[in-house]
Amino acid sequence: MKNQEGQYFSPQQIPEALEILSKYGKEIKIIAGGSDLLVQYHDRLYEIAGWLDLKNLTELKKIELNSSEVSIGAMITHSQLEKSPQIKNYFPILSRAAAEIGSPQIRNRGTIGGNIVNASPAGDLLSPLIAYEAKLVLLSSDEKNIIPAEQFFTGPKKTILKPNQLLTQIILPLPPQNCYSSWVKVGKRKALAISTIALAMVVKMSEDNQIIQGAKVCLSSIAPTPLEIKEVREEMIGKTFSQVNFTKLAQLVEDKISPIDDIRGTKEYRKEVARRIMIHCLEEIYSCWRDKCLPIN
Ligand SMILES: Cc1cc2nc3c(=O)[nH]c(=O)nc-3n(C[C@H](O)[C@H](O)[C@H](O)COP(=O)(O)OP(=O)(O)OC[C@H]3O[C@@H](n4cnc5c(N)ncnc54)[C@H](O)[C@@H]3O)c2cc1C
Repeated sequence: MKNQEGQYFSPQQIPEALEILSKYGKEIKIIAGGSDLLVQYHDRLYEIAGWLDLKNLTELKKIELNSSEVSIGAMITHSQLEKSPQIKNYFPILSRAAAEIGSPQIRNRGTIGGNIVNASPAGDLLSPLIAYEAKLVLLSSDEKNIIPAEQFFTGPKKTILKPNQLLTQIILPLPPQNCYSSWVKVGKRKALAISTIALAMVVKMSEDNQIIQGAKVCLSSIAPTPLEIKEVREEMIGKTFSQVNFTKLAQLVEDKISPIDDIRGTKEYRKEVARRIMIHCLEEIYSCWRDKCLPIN
């Protein structure tokens, strides 16, 4: 297993992939669907001395459900994520976000692992994953680390992943029975558009469906990494829906973000839209809760 310039590895088993990474991790690039990597390579953003292709690692192409969590293999494509009955059932906004990525071609090739490791501030799966409290499994030949998704990102296209590590699974704890979520992506077009801003919100209610027990709001495309607005949780927890002031919460989100101007939108535009989509998400969640709550006549 000697690496030469331009060498291509395509292991069949995870231990083999990890061995390759422990020897050549600093020189070679991991490739999944290639929908980010090959664009960057085409633009010669960096030289690539060799490739580790994950396409034959069937272990990374499974979605598995047990009594407490769902484990998603890093090679699951956006199309598979969108269509998976388990994901649709337990994590509807992850399925919705996957359905809005790029185009059918991109969704058929691009993977959840690639979206995470690419760490674009506009990566569509990142905010729903953080809102659902996802954990990432990072494997190397000598250790296994499981970390909360929000700790993975350190800057635009920067993560804590080491050259000898592979992202193998994304683990999502099963939400309680009374869990509501909403996701909005705003872009310049309806399809093939990188988000100008996106917001994911997950609210967990008590067993009797009356008291808010958990609330997570995470935005993308407004900061170098996906950003959770933790103050929303503090404002909502322990309250009923009738005690929550939607306008105040939306203003809180607007006040807490400091986006930049770029080709997709100005700072002022993003702040205004953040406030409006926060209201939209709260209203969507409230309406789902109300419909579930109302006695059937
Ligand atoms: C036309 C077009 C439209 C797009 N639209 C969108 C969009 O709307 N929303 C959006 O979020 N993205 C979009 N993308 C970006 C891209 O498709 C996604 O980020 C996709 O999920 C990347 O997955 P991939 O499997 O193709 O990753 P790759 O390109 O193969 O890899 C991306 C990075 O992740 C690393 N990597 C991949 N898998 C692993 C792993 N298991 N362990 C460790 N490292 C790994 C690679 O080394 C590389 O650095 C678009 C891209 C194109 C070209």
